[in-house]
Amino acid sequence: NLFDISRQPSKSVRILYLVRTSARFYEKRLTHLLETWIALVKSDTFFVTDTLLPNIAQDHMILTKETCGLDAHTMGSLCCKTAHDFQLYRRHISTYDWFCHFDDDQYVNVDNLQNYLSTLDFNTPYYIGRNSWPSTLKRTKHPYPTPFWFATLGAGVCLSKRTIQLLNPHVQNVSQYVDGCIRENYHDDIYLGFLLHAYLNIPLTKNEHFHSHIEKTFYSNQQLFLHTFRDDITFGFRADKRYPYFLPQIDKSILDPLRIRALHCLLYTHLNECQRKLQQ
Ligand code: UDP
Ligand code: MN
Repeated sequence: NLFDISRQPSKSVRILYLVRTSARFYEKRLTHLLETWIALVKSDTFFVTDTLLPNIAQDHMILTKETCGLDAHTMGSLCCKTAHDFQLYRRHISTYDWFCHFDDDQYVNVDNLQNYLSTLDFNTPYYIGRNSWPSTLKRTKHPYPTPFWFATLGAGVCLSKRTIQLLNPHVQNVSQYVDGCIRENYHDDIYLGFLLHAYLNIPLTKNEHFHSHIEKTFYSNQQLFLHTFRDDITFGFRADKRYPYFLPQIDKSILDPLRIRALHCLLYTHLNECQRKLQQ
């Protein structure tokens, strides 16, 4: 049996899961997540989306079209969307200990995330994720002419309750964050790293178990992947073989183009729907 029964979700810390998405990605991306990892943490999952998504409770969605305009993969637009993360976090600060952003092309091992975050103190300022670049971002301009690390939002980024409290004066409304991105000419995730480093002195805590599809080689070594995937916390997918393409299509009736369902069932072989499929 591939599944280690002893590793049940501990629920010792309360995690808010935020998923950034777009109504046009509902079929292609979100449905796969909703039927796998999100199903395990549904009541703690919230969506930042341009327009309404089907089958999701109204109070679990933040709609961005009014404030951000039409969705586009541009600096201003994505900064505006990310700015809504903090409005959502603020609203739920009393209910949760950790606040994590994920993109809609990610798989999250919620057990591993729980286990990891429960080893840390959420009353300490934390900024956790995977560094996007192999070295610091060089910064020479004022103010704060010092280099800093930033985490790629596409690998997932977790902030402790204390960090959200400290961030508050800098993210009081959406335009404050967008103005900051534009002023510094930084993308949404770079600006977050800058804000935390420069204004709050909170450094990045790197975690190599967070993955995005930026890592071209992560999925190409089958032996290595199969040896280590149970310890990973997040995975990022992209159609150009940046997914574990060597995993079998386990359910012939439901398409699993990026093997998200296959990965889920390898991690949770005890789930009824997985038992059925794995036996087929
Ligand atoms: N996204 C969005 N609006 C867009 C394009 C992308 O909200 O117009 C979101 C998308 O749902 C995802 C994230 O931004 O959560 C990153 O987009 P994508 O994965 O398409 O691009 P990447 O930057 O990872 O190559
Ligand atoms: Mn992506």
